[in-house]
Amino acid sequence: PEEAHLMSSALAFSEKRASMIMTRLDHTFCIEVGSKLSFEALLRCYKSGFTRIPVYRKDPSCVVGLLFAKDLILVDPDDEIPVGAMLSFCGRSLHVVRHDTTIDKLLAAAQTQHSHLFFVVEGGPDAPASVAKWPPPISNVIGIVTLEDVLEELIAAEIVDE
Ligand code: ADP
Repeated sequence: PEEAHLMSSALAFSEKRASMIMTRLDHTFCIEVGSKLSFEALLRCYKSGFTRIPVYRKDPSCVVGLLFAKDLILVDPDDEIPVGAMLSFCGRSLHVVRHDTTIDKLLAAAQTQHSHLFFVVEGGPDAPASVAKWPPPISNVIGIVTLEDVLEELIAAEIVDE
């Protein structure tokens, strides 16, 4: 019975897909590449409380970069630096995953790519998960999924079956 429990939880976990556990784009805190890092903008980033902030061009579904909140600590609000200028010296590599990728594959990709955040795309590359260096932009983004989202599912799957 012990083994049966483990197997059924493993199945439920591996049947889930990125789009089922992601944070939808309209609930994602992100910032436009052409906007300026004014005092208000920096305050919004700080108050969001998020570690990672996606950067988009014109439409949030078109992602051109990723900033870490900690990269903003030395920014002088009076300089009103454009977000794009920040990306050129502290932009991070972008990791992409198809919406229908199962989350066991996502977990493996997070481990091999040392990535905590994936952009979930509608359609996209055939590979289950890939890395896109900045540039080019990632289009058709529908949400983000982090390692935390995946681990939550893993733990929930185990608890439900107890
Ligand atoms: P953080 O380190 O910022 O707390 P985690 O990776 O621990 O982020 O994820 C916690 C939750 O917050 C997850 O559900 C994740 O999808 C969500 N999340 C992460 N970054 C953002 C963001 N920029 N906007 C909205 N939700 C986010």
